[in-house]
Amino acid sequence: MQLPDFRNEPFTDFSRPDNREAFQQALQKIQNEVLGRTWPCWIGGEEVRGDTTFDGHDPGELTRLIGKYQKLTEADATVAVEKAHAAFRDWSQTDAEYRVGIFMRAAQTLRERKHEFSAMLCYEVGKTWAEADGDTAEAIDFLEYYALQMLKMSQPQPVTPVAGERNQMVYIPLGVGAIIPPWNFPLAIMAGMTAAALLAGNTVVLKPASQSPGVAAMWVDLMYECGLPKQVLNFITGPGSSVGAAMVQHKLTRFISFTGSKDVGLWIFDKASKVQPGQIWMKRLVAEMGGKDSILVDAECDLEAAADAVVASAFGYQGQKCSACSRAIVHAGVYDRFVAMIPPRVERIQVGHPSEQGKGFGPMIDGAAKRKTMEYIEAGKKEGRLLIGGGEGSTSGYYVMPTVFADVAPDARISQEEIFGPVLAIIKANDFAHGLEIANNTEYGLTGSVFTHNPAHKEMAVRHFHVGNFYINRKCTGALVGAHPFGGFNMSGTDSKAGGPDYLLQFLQAKTISEKIG
Ligand code: NAD
Repeated sequence: MQLPDFRNEPFTDFSRPDNREAFQQALQKIQNEVLGRTWPCWIGGEEVRGDTTFDGHDPGELTRLIGKYQKLTEADATVAVEKAHAAFRDWSQTDAEYRVGIFMRAAQTLRERKHEFSAMLCYEVGKTWAEADGDTAEAIDFLEYYALQMLKMSQPQPVTPVAGERNQMVYIPLGVGAIIPPWNFPLAIMAGMTAAALLAGNTVVLKPASQSPGVAAMWVDLMYECGLPKQVLNFITGPGSSVGAAMVQHKLTRFISFTGSKDVGLWIFDKASKVQPGQIWMKRLVAEMGGKDSILVDAECDLEAAADAVVASAFGYQGQKCSACSRAIVHAGVYDRFVAMIPPRVERIQVGHPSEQGKGFGPMIDGAAKRKTMEYIEAGKKEGRLLIGGGEGSTSGYYVMPTVFADVAPDARISQEEIFGPVLAIIKANDFAHGLEIANNTEYGLTGSVFTHNPAHKEMAVRHFHVGNFYINRKCTGALVGAHPFGGFNMSGTDSKAGGPDYLLQFLQAKTISEKIG
């Protein structure tokens, strides 16, 4: 099978009138044709409806209904795992090339319909045009990148020749995967986690986050349209604490691919390690969790660029990225200058409904996230000096204004705990080495950046800044598939490196075949 080299999907240039027009049309189309729909689930190839449904609302405009989703139960999740198990036998024996063909087709179809998916993200999870476009581009990238990787993994792997034997090592799939993604990249991460498992020859039960089932349902339909057998991708919606928990604990679940909070990840880690009656394997767990990410600003650096990067990393998607910069750690020699640069930049951020072009900052995902963020802002008022923000925005949605505290201690709560909202703490460091020490002082280890022109400091940070994704003189968000394989250390997770060459190995096992010859 001849396939092109992998290239990242370009982001849409919204300075072009034709692109703006196309995006507006997609927003209209989603409003007219998609919002308000009642979506089914899919188990064993059949459409399934529960006894009740739950509603999804636009977090930026609470009166807008996004959709109605099936509220399934533990019993439904159990059936879904069993159906996925039944489908594994055939799907696991398909040629990798056949599976790759389906996903390459799906990538192309998603590319053709990208604005529709991005428009849905504007309404369902409060992404601005650019953030939504980035999410959709990343989803396309994941589909193609993992498809191309699967072709490589399906080739015979190199083994040392031995006289009198023919030896081979091949990768085979694991079994049924429970796929449990978060709401914050509800297309890219959801599609990437699901595609990797399926391409590797596993069957799955996908349960999207309850804040974002709509875009997942659209993607599942697209996959079926592109020829994916329905039985191999079971799609269920309902509470994570019941439906998700049942998927995790089922004896036929072979692996769990989870992205979400540390607390839920650790709960799953515990439950997945308990062997259920009749279970004949140890479950594999891929868990990508939270972050408390820092940008370390040295005395010798481009301070303007550092301030731009901090503001972009802290407030892109309202700070609701695992990679968001929630701490700027700044060398004492430039601290006051740096602090003065932040408020004017934050004032320029356009807050408003993300479906409006030009808005750079929308709502938080739900009431719970808003309440949690406001609690941290209250804590911040005691732990630091409020520079800007600190209040709610419009109450038509879950808006919280971008907020910055200066003079925060390295061990303050807002320096240590993941807020997952638009709150930035600025921390003063005595010198570069002290700054590095602060950068490593949390339980997380996901992303981080340094801004420095000093080669010795750069080298020191490369060695000692303990994060899975480390950047130099650039922002700490915006990892690109293939270029920046993504995953964190310590309580940030299992460092699976999504979008990297090793990712698929986590959904495969190696079988060695040795034949005596001659
Ligand atoms: P969450 O942990 O609340 O939920 C994640 C998923 O787990 C959802 O689908 C949810 O329904 C499900 N779930 C909840 N309880 C469960 C249970 N008991 N058993 C099984 N499933 C259960 O996280 P979230 O709020 O959706 O996402 C935000 C978090 O995700 C943040 O902490 C963020 O840092 C993290 N995140 C990490 C990465 C990464 O790559 N490291 C990427 C994106 C988001």
